[in-house]
Amino acid sequence: MAVKDILESLDWGPAPESDKFAREWLDQHGPSFGMYIDGKWVTPESGDNFESFNPATGELLGTISQAGESEVNSAVAAARAALPGWSASPGHVRARYLYAIARQVQKHHRLLAVIETLDNGKPIRETRDADVPLVARHFYHHAGWAQLFDETFPGYGPVGVCGQVIPWNFPLLMLAWKIAPALAAGNTVVLKPAEFTSISALVFAEICNSVGLPPGVVNIVTGDGKTGALITEHDDIDKVAFTGSTEVGRIIRKATAGSGKALTLELGGKSPFIVFEDADIDSAIEGLVNAIWFNQGQVCCAGSRLLVQESIAERFHEKLRSRMAKLRIGDPMNKAIDMGAIVDESQRKTIDDMCKLGCDEGGEMWQPSTELPEQGCFFLPTLFTNVSPSSTIVQEEVFGPVLVSLTFRNHKEAISLANNTRYGLAGSVWSQDIDTALEVARSIRAGAIWVNCTNQFDANAGFGGCRESGFGREGGREGMYAYMRTLPSESQTEKMENSGGRKATTEPSSSGAESVDRTAKMYIGGKQKRPDGGYTMDVTGPSGTVGQVGRGNRKDIRDAVEAASGATKWATTNAHTRSQILYYIAENLEQRSAEFAARISAMTGSTTEAAESEVADAVSEWFRWAAWADKYDGAVHETTMHGLVLALNEPLGVVGVTCPDERPLCGFTRLVAPLLAMGNSVIAVPSESNPLAATDLYQVLETSDLPAGVLNIVTGIHSEFVPALAAHDGVDSMWVGTGDVDEVQIASVSNMKRVWKVNMDASADEFLRQSTHVKNIWLPHGL
Ligand code: NDP
Repeated sequence: MAVKDILESLDWGPAPESDKFAREWLDQHGPSFGMYIDGKWVTPESGDNFESFNPATGELLGTISQAGESEVNSAVAAARAALPGWSASPGHVRARYLYAIARQVQKHHRLLAVIETLDNGKPIRETRDADVPLVARHFYHHAGWAQLFDETFPGYGPVGVCGQVIPWNFPLLMLAWKIAPALAAGNTVVLKPAEFTSISALVFAEICNSVGLPPGVVNIVTGDGKTGALITEHDDIDKVAFTGSTEVGRIIRKATAGSGKALTLELGGKSPFIVFEDADIDSAIEGLVNAIWFNQGQVCCAGSRLLVQESIAERFHEKLRSRMAKLRIGDPMNKAIDMGAIVDESQRKTIDDMCKLGCDEGGEMWQPSTELPEQGCFFLPTLFTNVSPSSTIVQEEVFGPVLVSLTFRNHKEAISLANNTRYGLAGSVWSQDIDTALEVARSIRAGAIWVNCTNQFDANAGFGGCRESGFGREGGREGMYAYMRTLPSESQTEKMENSGGRKATTEPSSSGAESVDRTAKMYIGGKQKRPDGGYTMDVTGPSGTVGQVGRGNRKDIRDAVEAASGATKWATTNAHTRSQILYYIAENLEQRSAEFAARISAMTGSTTEAAESEVADAVSEWFRWAAWADKYDGAVHETTMHGLVLALNEPLGVVGVTCPDERPLCGFTRLVAPLLAMGNSVIAVPSESNPLAATDLYQVLETSDLPAGVLNIVTGIHSEFVPALAAHDGVDSMWVGTGDVDEVQIASVSNMKRVWKVNMDASADEFLRQSTHVKNIWLPHGL
């Protein structure tokens, strides 16, 4: 094309990135690639392998090894053998390695960016300007955490050997999000990249080798989902970290339940992109392009659900269509391209099938008339309107360049539509009005909210979700906790004084009027309620029957969850008020110390002195968490964005708690009070053998202004209803203070709730962290 023609059409000319270095690397190392285990390059015993293609051209890039059991075993054994040395090495030494890796990533920036584009199909503009710089930033940042480890996290150590499985949408970046914090905290890793995009992980392995990382600290095994399962189910793995589909996340949650393995899951999403009528519309359109067409929409936090205020919907859609028509789609190695290729034909077909379903369900599909390249795996940017909130295309993750649009009238409807999803990963809010923007940002249930911006990521701001988007954070201080465990200390090895532990008599008691009168009821929705089944059980002490409590069942649990779910205002009650209420509880309990002490003594057989001391401790415990209610501050993260990133510690929602037998009043308080202090609604299951310490609290609670439904108490035989509590989709998290944590983990697979096996002697920080998750609100600003 002549310059004159260009000036006339003002069209973009081709601006191809050179693939020279990448080709040289592929030629030198390929066409068959081995795996990196124990610091050596190995090929699988079986000789099994699979092919990796460039989705933009269909060209074969090489043959990748398929790791089987023997290779996974070797990799895990190598990581285990390397663990003592690596975890004992001073933070400064680990920092030096992470720093060296960061430097090498920068040095090989171009190679990595091109390899990633060839293998994945994403535009070179993205790999060059987003993926690889963020990878380097992650290693630098975590070199810092390694350096500061001892002074920042005293009492913590690494979890151990980590099995990490990552997807194909950000191959190198997901690797960095997993490996950098793991190594910083002193863990060793076995990582499997996705089958479609293994090559950049192999370049990374070479970088590890080149900086002299001790053998076995990082092991890269390649393979498909079967290899992933061999890792996540391996007996000698201490922690599993997974990013990928909610479907596979659920399989892993199930497979690891009861195994004692630590787990973090970063899963799917259907993130809302909310535009108010007072938004800067042109910026919002550009934001939306970034939200849903970045990486062809193959992004877990893609803003795939546009919610636009009714008053501007028509104008907004018009502008959007015109912008979509201008998106340049084609060769991802062209620096002027907006959208590259879909990762694989199978994924392209999935997207196509979802669109067909969207049309079948009555949605109106619009695509620009842009020509797609004849060869390769491409999909047009797509907009669905006229959809209902319950349509499949509105509810399910498409993982492609497909946007659905719904309208809303006011902010309440916007919030309700935004939260009408089983996911909770991210969201974006566009409004020039600070009240609207912040109120809506705080009301969306998600781990990251971007105000007047989207897809902001930084190593110092944790990323992750809630609900079926998984749990755990990656990045920043909050992400470091996912790779640490509390080290046992002397005080932690000492058991709390055991003053209970006997079983209650579990036979249904005779149903005479007298026994009904003497029975402590359930406490549900702020009212004392008879157990649904009408059964009661005796509570016995050394001198015989001390009283009776209701014997709860699934129906009582359902009622309690309903009451707790209806009490979510507690989460937004200000911290000062919450702390005042906890102080009232302490005060009211103290006034009845003698009565409580007598009851504890009768139930547990402890001396009067011990019982009095337990009540005094419980009072002090309520004071302690009342004090914390307004002191567990969030943070303002320092990131690369110009603006503020507010990290808020938000309550988890509804939490189920099983309380220990030992020191029943103190145990109950230590579990329930921090959760209440942080704004959660609680369903507490008191000690099975000593439940009266909790049921006697009803009157204390009633006189302490605790809103109805915030604390619910269900007594009875744990095995009869705790599984129902753990399985209930309305329960967001479980704290297991007594009973079998494995059973609770297995029962709670369906909605992937966070389960904590309570360590009664954990620090306040840990109790508070387990009571909350971090929401990062990104607020760019500037004139
Ligand atoms: P998967 O969740 O299947 O894959 C993620 C990773 O897990 C890959 O490394 C995969 O291996 C591995 N894997 C697959 N099965 C198992 C298993 N049983 N145990 C352990 N590891 C396993 O995602 P896909 O790549 O198949 O994509 C499917 C859909 O998932 C997409 O259409 C999209 O909707 C969603 N997705 C969501 C992501 C997110 O970040 N939210 C990321 C990627 C996908 P391999 O790929 O080699 O088979």
